[in-house]
Amino acid sequence: MSAALYLKKGRDKSVKQHHPWIFSGAVERVQGSPGLGETVEIFSTDGEWLARAAYSQNSQIIARIWSWDKSESIGREFFKNRLYRAVEQRAALIPQGETDDVRLVHGESDGLPGLVVDRYADVLVIQCLSAGIELWLKEVVEVLVELTGCEQVYERSDVEVRHLEGLPERVGALHGAAPTEPLIISENGLLFKVDLLHGQKTGFYIDQRHNRQRVGALAQGRRVLNCFCYSGGFSVYALAGGASQVVSIDSSHEALVLARENYGMNHLSNEQVDWIEGDVFHELRLLRDRAQSFDAIILDPPKFAPTAAQAESAARGYKDINLLAFKLLRPGGLLFTFSCSGGISADLFQKIVAGAALDAGVDARIVEHLAQGPDHPVALNFPEGTYLKGLICVVN
Ligand code: SAH
Repeated sequence: MSAALYLKKGRDKSVKQHHPWIFSGAVERVQGSPGLGETVEIFSTDGEWLARAAYSQNSQIIARIWSWDKSESIGREFFKNRLYRAVEQRAALIPQGETDDVRLVHGESDGLPGLVVDRYADVLVIQCLSAGIELWLKEVVEVLVELTGCEQVYERSDVEVRHLEGLPERVGALHGAAPTEPLIISENGLLFKVDLLHGQKTGFYIDQRHNRQRVGALAQGRRVLNCFCYSGGFSVYALAGGASQVVSIDSSHEALVLARENYGMNHLSNEQVDWIEGDVFHELRLLRDRAQSFDAIILDPPKFAPTAAQAESAARGYKDINLLAFKLLRPGGLLFTFSCSGGISADLFQKIVAGAALDAGVDARIVEHLAQGPDHPVALNFPEGTYLKGLICVVN
């Protein structure tokens, strides 16, 4: 008999609504002694079969659901079907040849809890974030190679969330050789060097691809300030889109080295660019004190609030930089402001930005709502999958 979890009375509701997480507090008893990541059957307190899930005894999320279909067993065929569907949907949503960087699998929202797969040209980069997917990693890699024809698969599971699952951080080649140098990818006709081995995330912020295009489309003739620029994604698009000048700030030296190279690769003139290695909170104040002004400002900070518990201090951080940015914008200027914090809702983010404008004494309106791209879908039953939100505001 396979191992099973019996839920407490009334705690089957979210499972029936196809939410993929089962919290440890919802479990009445564990039948059998499932190992880390092993498949368990989920039952209601009355013994009604509900779902099949991966067990993770160390985590508050004690099980992540693979399937609500009793006839679907969890094995190679299951992963093949899910991976095929995810890859097919990307092919339909992101026209071939337009871009080399695509997120092929986005975890829970693709029915594969804990699995992230990013494609950079012919190289796949995997993040394995749950005990369940860890157990099936070999099969997943084999199927992905077969499906995509990519011979190089590299793992970047050097992320803290793995500790919550009782898993160590890990990097290395999963198939083929590890890349030895940064890869050059093309995104909407622009070239970027991506450091798959040491770069942030899996190397590039693929989730901002669409938003980079919006910046490019609105940059003509503007003096642009790109805060938290990383490898210069928004900066390259802005200059290619006709910005008169682009000033970029990041605290990471390595990121700025890459960003400079990305300018060079796109044959963009270095005369119109300025790089500042520093802390955005501090540099924005210096720019204000020097009475600098801009026609467009991008704020794409790191995750200030990974969970709702840090929301308050995060809110202060967001308000601070948005307030300073509003003060630096000329009339008619655009603010592209983002939050990738799961702990900050879109509503709260809008309120924070509104508060910042008010305190800056600026009258502004939202002209566009932005989000993560279509290759980072959000399953309707998994609102937690929404993390990146952005606003384009125009100031009077
Ligand atoms: N906009 C980027 C991604 C930004 S990620 C893109 O589209 O590619 C966040 C970046 O902020 C990282 O590069 C990190 O080095 C930088 N960073 C984090 N804290 C910072 C701070 N206080 N000041 C300046 N840069 C910071």
